[in-house]
Amino acid sequence: MRDIREHPSVEADVIVVGGGFAGITAARELKRSGRSVALLEARDRLGGRALSAPIGDGKIVELGAEFHGKAQRIIAGTARELGIDSYRVHDEGDRLIDWDGELVRWRGMMPRIGPATLADFGQAALRLERMARRVPLDAPWRAPGADRWDSETMASWARRNLRTRGGRRLMQVMIEAGLAATPADVSLLHVLYYSQGAGGFRAMTSVTGGTLERRFVGGSQNIAERLAESIRAETYHGAIVRKVRHTGTHVRVIGEGFEAVGRRVVLAIPVPLAGRIDYDPPLPAHRDQLTQRLTFGSAIKYLALYDEPFWRKEGLTGMVISPDGPVRAVMDSCPPDGTPGVLAVFVTGPAAREVSRLAPGERRETVLRALTRFFGPRAAWPYEVIEQNWMAEPYTRGCYHSYAPPGLYTSYGPGLREPIGRIHWAGAETVTAEYGAMGGAIDSGRRVALEVIGRDSGEAPARTDAAPENRFDDVFRRMDEAEKHD
Ligand SMILES: Cc1cc2nc3c(=O)[nH]c(=O)nc-3n(C[C@H](O)[C@H](O)[C@H](O)COP(=O)(O)OP(=O)(O)OC[C@H]3O[C@@H](n4cnc5c(N)ncnc54)[C@H](O)[C@@H]3O)c2cc1C
Repeated sequence: MRDIREHPSVEADVIVVGGGFAGITAARELKRSGRSVALLEARDRLGGRALSAPIGDGKIVELGAEFHGKAQRIIAGTARELGIDSYRVHDEGDRLIDWDGELVRWRGMMPRIGPATLADFGQAALRLERMARRVPLDAPWRAPGADRWDSETMASWARRNLRTRGGRRLMQVMIEAGLAATPADVSLLHVLYYSQGAGGFRAMTSVTGGTLERRFVGGSQNIAERLAESIRAETYHGAIVRKVRHTGTHVRVIGEGFEAVGRRVVLAIPVPLAGRIDYDPPLPAHRDQLTQRLTFGSAIKYLALYDEPFWRKEGLTGMVISPDGPVRAVMDSCPPDGTPGVLAVFVTGPAAREVSRLAPGERRETVLRALTRFFGPRAAWPYEVIEQNWMAEPYTRGCYHSYAPPGLYTSYGPGLREPIGRIHWAGAETVTAEYGAMGGAIDSGRRVALEVIGRDSGEAPARTDAAPENRFDDVFRRMDEAEKHD
């Protein structure tokens, strides 16, 4: 990777902004097609929402994206191509649910919390799965029933379709843990779309047979880094893009202390962040309003490290679901050999918003109190607690992915991927498969590369043989002239 401060003016056929899975894949594919590329990344690392932290002995914990299952074929296939293995998440023993002040142990598909609640939730989950199958993964706005499903929230649907208070609470915790969003905020159509991409509504929060079944040896960020190997020389870190000037023939991508000129730009950053960039000329209203409406979920992820996974000896998987407390979910997140013991703790939805207002010490205490309640006194004494507040990350601002409120898909959906002149869009929220996940981001990078190549054909071929510093001389000159006259 290069430091952008040492390269204040960059030229390439295609400028790609964002070094997550989407941007890396786009830059890789475009380079493979013979185009010159420059990948601009704001942070000093690659991977975006996939982030590892070393914990000694060559091991890591994962502060961002971590899991995949059978339905996540794209990320699994990519890892396989790179020779990266995966391993099963520990799922032997009982799980816990924190229910009406009691900790209930459970196995199988559903927690044992009363037959009426289970029947109620079970039939609602089946209905959601049947509805989700009718949602096209590349265009949820085209689902038969899209208008109706996009005109209400998940909460309003649950109020009408779940008869028991318990069933509604279970539904709430599934959404808050699975999407980091509140049911009252999110469109029913979005839940159907997301769950369909995840392999089904119940798969969203299941270990064996679900999206939480496996992890990658060495962590997910390692996949991003390995993917980026072929574009190291074209990747610039510390490149915070603030402005995009676009004309009929070229783009000028401007950041703090640098500028990059190319024929086209791919913005592979989360949609809400694309709304913070200044465009000249401004984006058309439909695109600008879309970026104002698609919004991020709320989550803080903690990793609590213990000498050993003591919960396993007590017959527990490590998985906890908790509808009421500050912690919505806990997962066993140990390295492949099971040492050290690592619990991944998810504080999500309204709980994340409340907890993030506390002082750092209070936040840690809040999380440890919850873990002690779930796993007993040993949980109070981790040798390390790592906190990752994704809401406070300036180049992410929430997680796990963006969600759509009612009305977004049916009013603005087709604009998610539609290029604006020479500006193209990629990212886990602009997908045709596996929405909001690592695989979706990769899919979007491939799709946008094909889109750029398609639009390019018919234009003069890129002069990749010319010295980079000469290739866009004319363009620079013309753009400078135009700017002087503005
Ligand atoms: C806590 C958490 C848990 C998750 N769990 C899973 C999981 O288990 N499985 C799964 O598949 N997915 C999971 N995800 C989602 C997954 O991480 C994302 O869907 C995927 O990584 C998104 O990739 P992306 O390239 O679209 O975007 P990002 O990873 O967000 O990459 C965008 C990049 O753009 C950069 N950027 C932003 N603004 C600018 C700017 N102005 N100038 C230059 N660069 C900029 C950012 O620094 C970032 O590197 C999780 C995410 C989080 C946060």
